[in-house]
Amino acid sequence: MSLDPVIAFYAAPLVAIWSVYLIKRRRTEFRSLNAREEAIAAGLSEPTSLHPVIDSALCVGCKACLNACPEGDILGLIRGKAELVEPSNCIGHGACKTACPRGAISLVFGSEKRGVDLPVVGPDFATNVPGIYIAGELGGMGLIRNAVEQGRQAMQSIVAQGKAKRPGMLDVVIVGSGPAGIAASLGAMEKRLQFVTLEQDAFGGTVAHFPRGKIVMTAPAELPIVGQMKFKEVSKEKLLAFWHKVMRDTGLKINDQERVESVTAIDGGYAIKTTRAQYQTQSVLLAIGRRGTPRRLGAPGEELPKVVYRMVDPEQYRGQHVLVVGGGDSALEAASSLADEPGTTVTLSYRSDAFARAKTKNRKRVEDAELEGRINVLLSSTVSAIHPDHVELKHRNAPVVLRNDAIIVCAGGILPTDFLKSMGITIETKHGTA
Ligand SMILES: Cc1cc2nc3c(=O)[nH]c(=O)nc-3n(C[C@H](O)[C@H](O)[C@H](O)COP(=O)(O)OP(=O)(O)OC[C@H]3O[C@@H](n4cnc5c(N)ncnc54)[C@H](O)[C@@H]3O)c2cc1C
Ligand code: SF4
Repeated sequence: MSLDPVIAFYAAPLVAIWSVYLIKRRRTEFRSLNAREEAIAAGLSEPTSLHPVIDSALCVGCKACLNACPEGDILGLIRGKAELVEPSNCIGHGACKTACPRGAISLVFGSEKRGVDLPVVGPDFATNVPGIYIAGELGGMGLIRNAVEQGRQAMQSIVAQGKAKRPGMLDVVIVGSGPAGIAASLGAMEKRLQFVTLEQDAFGGTVAHFPRGKIVMTAPAELPIVGQMKFKEVSKEKLLAFWHKVMRDTGLKINDQERVESVTAIDGGYAIKTTRAQYQTQSVLLAIGRRGTPRRLGAPGEELPKVVYRMVDPEQYRGQHVLVVGGGDSALEAASSLADEPGTTVTLSYRSDAFARAKTKNRKRVEDAELEGRINVLLSSTVSAIHPDHVELKHRNAPVVLRNDAIIVCAGGILPTDFLKSMGITIETKHGTA
């Protein structure tokens, strides 16, 4: 029995559209499954902070959340339902929740398997320890706009305490110069407080370490002295240039490369010990984010300026002898990008005997570069001493000496929980709750 030609005429385009739709959907599902498997294999299957949880009973698989996420393939589609496939890359934009037409998404901290430690902070940003305040992502709420707002408001709360000046004591020490620390520092300047801003790394906080050219999604926010920060979509470089201009125009000073090591209660305030100095202050504002302090190697010579804990721009190492230390994705990505630079000699040192904690695509990039002689991989190796022009390692217990101009340590970070506990700040562990 043949099909009526009129029905066939109308049905053919519909069948074609339906087929294209099915092919696209199958491709999305295939990509999502791969991404989820890679994340699990690399031990990156747990979200680190605020993230979406999808109610599969309500989800109809429309993909609105996948399309809304500004960070790319964080969400995927598996068996017709949305799923978080790259949980550790989720930064909590929350655009998925807004986009979902079915109300299937809630945003939570932590999961059943992995709790997230958050300090208990009041609406005025005060902790349970009098005189110590917290603003920005450390308090749980990610994103630049929130950090700016909280930094500004936390400084207003500190000013509202109305503490009389004490001789020999600062009014406030601000720890961290990310968006929260910058806004708070401008707030302290505006109110003519006596303060210092201490930064263990470089001005700009986490933003300074975004990949080159990353488009930063944000929303307008109010900076003290400066007024509205009007960005919505801006490159990392433009945002940092804006903040540097603010610094120049206002005369704001940040003590960079100065890490706060301890905060101890004293009469009328706190003693702050840093890697460079000691301060006494009535109040402390912690704007230190959640990424923690980079784990150090503990090798002699590590204090040399050629040792850094993040690679920002591979180009700056062109033609140099570089050692990358670590076995996770950031170490492998750093080593591969350096190996692409003409004339750069790259050695990758890792203490274990395999790169088990990295994504397949990064392992493959390193394997290819090693085969082509562009990376020298030293598994089961540790750094024993660092000198201005060379580095000593132990490789399977045998000594190795390498010519060296720069060392990039990608050995993970020490989360701020212990630092907060040492000050007596109450911590709550969240297991999948808002
Ligand atoms: C890859 C990635 C992409 C992102 N993209 C976006 C985006 O597009 N839009 C958006 O709104 N948000 C984005 N975010 C999130 C955003 O970067 C953070 O929410 C924001 O930077 C938090 O600001 P903060 O000031 O609280 O902390 P941070 O920016 O983390 O700054 C904290 C600072 O404190 C310093 N510090 C820590 N400990 C000490 C110590 N002991 N002594 C001295 N200094 C210390 C750190 O070195 C750091 O500079 C992204 C995050 C990542 C990781
Ligand atoms: S937007 Fe909502 S309904 Fe659509 S796929 Fe995402 S969770 Fe499911």
